[in-house]
Amino acid sequence: MKKIAIIGGGVAGLSAGIYALKSGFACDIYEQHICAGGECTSWKRKGYHIDNCVHWLTGTNPQKEVYQVWKELHVLGDDVEIIQNNSFLHLESNGESLDLWQDTRRMRKDMLALSPVDADAINTFVDQVETYMLMDMPALKPIEQLSIKEFWRLLKKLRPVGKVHGKLSKISLQQYAKRFKHPLLQKMMLAYMPATYNVSSWLFVLGTFCSGNGALPRGGSEGITNRMVDLFLSLGGTIHTRKRAVNLTLGKKQVESVQFSDGSVAYADYYIMACDTSVVFQKLLPAKYVDKFFAKHYSDKKAHPVYSSFNTYIAVDADTSFLGDTTWFDCEPYWAVGKVQQSVLLKNFITEPTFAPVGKNIFQTLLVQYEDDFNRWEDLYLHNLEQYKEAKHNLANYVVKRIEQQYPQLAGKMEVVETVSPYSFYRFCGAYKGSYMSFILSPYAPKKTSKGRVKGLSNLYLSGQWLQPPGGLPNAAVTGRFTIQRLCKDLKRPFNAQ
Ligand SMILES: Cc1cc2nc3c(=O)[nH]c(=O)nc-3n(C[C@H](O)[C@H](O)[C@H](O)COP(=O)(O)OP(=O)(O)OC[C@H]3O[C@@H](n4cnc5c(N)ncnc54)[C@H](O)[C@@H]3O)c2cc1C
Repeated sequence: MKKIAIIGGGVAGLSAGIYALKSGFACDIYEQHICAGGECTSWKRKGYHIDNCVHWLTGTNPQKEVYQVWKELHVLGDDVEIIQNNSFLHLESNGESLDLWQDTRRMRKDMLALSPVDADAINTFVDQVETYMLMDMPALKPIEQLSIKEFWRLLKKLRPVGKVHGKLSKISLQQYAKRFKHPLLQKMMLAYMPATYNVSSWLFVLGTFCSGNGALPRGGSEGITNRMVDLFLSLGGTIHTRKRAVNLTLGKKQVESVQFSDGSVAYADYYIMACDTSVVFQKLLPAKYVDKFFAKHYSDKKAHPVYSSFNTYIAVDADTSFLGDTTWFDCEPYWAVGKVQQSVLLKNFITEPTFAPVGKNIFQTLLVQYEDDFNRWEDLYLHNLEQYKEAKHNLANYVVKRIEQQYPQLAGKMEVVETVSPYSFYRFCGAYKGSYMSFILSPYAPKKTSKGRVKGLSNLYLSGQWLQPPGGLPNAAVTGRFTIQRLCKDLKRPFNAQ
């Protein structure tokens, strides 16, 4: 039986592993951390469940292609409860508020009531959200394996979105926001995603949510990972944890083995690198193997910026049911490692009561951080650990203060239980510049994906979100599937997903 070694046990590595086993390969996953899951993980602090990842999962609508992938991976299915919130985001500013409802008629009505003078811009915006509801991310075959008939069917399916996407993918959120006169509508465009994203990314998120394709599986990130790990193990796979790959031994046009930091070595017929691609190209392979796609993405920072966030987890000894799932509000300025911030994005884990002890609740706040912010966190961590800890502590306390100012009923009832800086994502997952998503789809970025091959190394494949910007869980899972489809095709053997 042909053997595959997968480096990296995140969603992409687990996905590749599951499809490899289903297709008749033997498969071992080597993960540097103490457990599988990568960014899609969780842990405990002071009795609270810290959910690191999922806010929405693209693929919860059974009519869409990605649903089938999640079903094959046991992430979704009849036995998994789906939590569908009725509002994606609740915004508050200057005594006014706005919800981005799943029901687009209600969204339109509320926006028009908020700002009648913006009627044209509002109608265009909600029409565009409705168009993006038709989006169905191709997930079942790599594009080069589609037959002509399948290719035309795909084009036909994507035509309504394609018609507007070309134009909208060249407009940044910042530029689009100026179409609205009302400040809260402008803020709505910039509250959730980095301003450098193109507007189609935001429309994609809202369209996904409004079409019921962006809900939450019960159990959050832990549930997603555990169900994949269970399936992988039940199919006969092995996961080796605390195995950090530090070198690949290269033969003539092939990888011969992989070495780990503990001195051990693994041999396989095929190697799938499902760790962050910056680890592959900057640490494991000589520079000559970086192809055009990655060379361009890592060097052109205007077209392909990255982002991360500073996350604070706050235990709340009070009823938080007056808040929905996710709230954004602007506030008095506060200081965050060299920059002034003026808003808070707050996730209330109210639909997951087991994430906090009985009678208590937990919040997560996310503050977007860019590459220059990551560099500051890195500098502090490497050169002055005490200052790094102090910066995390101070920033978390600022956030708590701003929440207290916004919701005085919570004053004195909140305690910071965990902070995660952009540098933490690098330390624990090897995430490039702390980025836990892939490259941002900016207005200057051509929509390109990588086929996950490394020229000159015929038994090496790549999987993971970095192959398909803007990344996220569905892209990670889909690239794992695509890798095994490509491998099966190379070997002229059947691919089996069932
Ligand atoms: C705060 C936050 C919120 C998010 N929200 C969402 C969301 O709502 N929806 C969504 O779709 N996505 C979300 N994401 C993104 C999502 O978590 C990622 O897109 C996805 O988990 C990436 O999976 P991956 O397998 O490609 O990469 P990773 O998860 O990075 O997995 C790579 C694995 O490789 C391992 N590794 C690295 N180097 C080595 C080495 N040298 N040797 C061995 N192993 C190595 C790492 O430890 C890691 O386990 C969020 C992420 C975060 C952190």
